[in-house]
Amino acid sequence: MDCLFCKIIAGEVPSHKVYEDEHAYAFLDIYPTSRGHTVVLPKEHITSFLEMSEEKTAELFASVNRIAKKVIAVTEAPGVNIGINNGLVAGQTVPHVHVHIIPRYENDGGGSMHTIVDSNPDREELEQLASVIHSKF
Ligand code: 5GP
Ligand code: ZN
Repeated sequence: MDCLFCKIIAGEVPSHKVYEDEHAYAFLDIYPTSRGHTVVLPKEHITSFLEMSEEKTAELFASVNRIAKKVIAVTEAPGVNIGINNGLVAGQTVPHVHVHIIPRYENDGGGSMHTIVDSNPDREELEQLASVIHSKF
């Protein structure tokens, strides 16, 4: 498997590991956007969050919660963004699911989820869109 993150998990590529359990592995991002920027991944290779089962995502996010608490305790960051770039158009560069934990600091110059994209979608459609999505459950 020619996957950078699988190679990190296997110890073939070095990383600054912060956590490992049966299902998850976490290390400091090599190009951190803030102090303490951490990525958490499932040990099992999977490209997309949308291909994961509810059980696997529950395991992954339990680890994310555990790790984020420690990262924030150590960095003393007053805030944090937690998220996934899923898919090429969303900025995913490594095709192995991973969750970013990005500690946020006062006046760090960063934005919020609202700054990722603002494509001005039609607000008139909200009710119909919600009902179509709701009908899929
Ligand atoms: P993505 O852009 O796919 O959401 O996130 C991939 C992340 O992996 C990026 O933030 C990038 O800095 C990080 N990254 C890429 N190569 C390496 C590496 O070799 N080691 C570590 N620790 N992080 C890496
Ligand atoms: Zn992989």
